[in-house]
Amino acid sequence: MPGGFARDGSAHATIHWEQIGVQHQATSPGRAITVERVTIVGGGLAGMAAAAALVHHQVPIRLLESRPRLGGRASSFRDQVTGEAIDNCQHVAMGCCTNFIRFCEMTGIRQHFEPARELYFFGPQGEMTKFAASRLPAPLHLAGAFFRLSYLSLSEKLALGRALSRLAVATETSITFADWLKHQRQPRRVIDHFWNVVLVSALSESLDRIGLQQARKVFVDGFLRNPQGWVVEIPQQPLEELWAGPVRQYLEANHGLVEVGQGVAKVELCNVSHPHSQANGWRVTGLTMRDSRMIPTGEMIVALPWYRLGEIFPEESPLAEIITQARQLEAAPISSVHLWYDRPITDLPHATFVSGLCQWLFIKPRQAGAAEHPQQTARYGYQVVISASRVLAGQSQEKIIEQVENELKGYFPALGDAHRVHARVVTEHKAVFSPLVGSEALRPAQQSPIANLQLAGDWTKTGWPATMEGAVRSGFLAAENVLRRLDQPAKVLVEDLPTSRLPRLLWGKLG
Ligand SMILES: Cc1cc2nc3c(=O)[nH]c(=O)nc-3n(C[C@H](O)[C@H](O)[C@H](O)COP(=O)(O)OP(=O)(O)OC[C@H]3O[C@@H](n4cnc5c(N)ncnc54)[C@H](O)[C@@H]3O)c2cc1C
Repeated sequence: MPGGFARDGSAHATIHWEQIGVQHQATSPGRAITVERVTIVGGGLAGMAAAAALVHHQVPIRLLESRPRLGGRASSFRDQVTGEAIDNCQHVAMGCCTNFIRFCEMTGIRQHFEPARELYFFGPQGEMTKFAASRLPAPLHLAGAFFRLSYLSLSEKLALGRALSRLAVATETSITFADWLKHQRQPRRVIDHFWNVVLVSALSESLDRIGLQQARKVFVDGFLRNPQGWVVEIPQQPLEELWAGPVRQYLEANHGLVEVGQGVAKVELCNVSHPHSQANGWRVTGLTMRDSRMIPTGEMIVALPWYRLGEIFPEESPLAEIITQARQLEAAPISSVHLWYDRPITDLPHATFVSGLCQWLFIKPRQAGAAEHPQQTARYGYQVVISASRVLAGQSQEKIIEQVENELKGYFPALGDAHRVHARVVTEHKAVFSPLVGSEALRPAQQSPIANLQLAGDWTKTGWPATMEGAVRSGFLAAENVLRRLDQPAKVLVEDLPTSRLPRLLWGKLG
């Protein structure tokens, strides 16, 4: 039975899947269907999104995650000193992340993200500018905000405006963004205090390594296409609580089996090619788990990070080329510095710094669960995010914390009187893949060369950088492929925000 699907009313198919123990009865509107559980390996956002999309279409799933918790690179852990759950790093989405927002709506966690429609930019001398949109249509909605940035001169702002407009229609694919900026004769201060600030935060790479098209996407989707694109969405709870709570409940209430602490050791394959057939006869048949258990499978989605894919497939398989290319994707680190004080150091909910080591500061939401902890005086928590943090390599935690505090004192004098109760630095060395020139060609489609195997993960071909949106897109695309193969075709992927009228007139559809 190619692809291993049990379909409506097929006695033969049903017997087959009962034999391997994955047959499942599900009800879709208007008809009873008999379908197998789709196996999903990896419980990061890509795996969770694929799972959510499938159960939404009444397809039962089994989600296998090796760690004791869901979330992958977007997860939390408990800090022993404060008793608080802290995210491995503050994660934010944006208004342009239409699929991530859909995932949140689908799983009932949308209300836990708060839109920030006002940002606070601190210039090199510590001067603060509020950054907010006006009622003007895109792309003029942010023009006033740019003109108010006190640390750029009028001529620098005009140069910035010119380059933004040219970037909208830039088509070169083989140059770095730094080279493109040089061709555009962008002033040094505009590069340092604007382009660098936005792109290092968004892509966690330096401008001399980011490809032009990857940079263009950030500005088109975030600033130019639609007035909602730039709005920053900030989770108000530790991520772990969202995934372990409402998301897991949603999956389990809809024919989902979620198994954490269940690492996959190996994907089992077989080749059933007929000697006279041109067709690729490779099929995924099951999984060997790290505890040696065997799990037979039919349709499978593997949603691992790019650097783990090769660990679970045999050397010789139709995936060999994909694995070789994935290994060529480079990784970039992101660090977060978690700080707790005995008093508030600022009233601002967040802040952006255009120079220095610190890039963003976020206030930590108060956690009820930590109230009984002996260190409950550590109630004023902050997190500083440092993307593309290679510069910190080899530095001690104390040294990093000292540098961060020295910078923060320049912006928030109240810090001078505050007593630090606790601090820690968390660095994810392989936080994201680097959006280098040529990296797009290394990203595989979700449909793998093996018919019943889909790939997902932020690094697969989505057109997006390594983000929660990219991960969710990959999961949705993989789910669409599975649904098509199950003869239940459905659109899962959500469209981008529409291109507003004025940008369409100026630059076309902005594809
Ligand atoms: C520090 C940091 C800050 C970030 N900030 C942002 C941000 O602000 N905004 C944003 O949009 N994005 C941000 N990102 C990026 C975002 O977190 C990722 O793009 C996204 O979470 C990737 O999801 P994924 O499912 O593709 O991969 P992963 O999250 O890596 O998930 C893969 C999962 O597979 C599991 N796994 C691995 N091997 C096995 C195995 N053998 N068997 C079973 N399971 C296995 C892993 O444990 C993991 O849970 C940040 C990332 C980091 C690290």
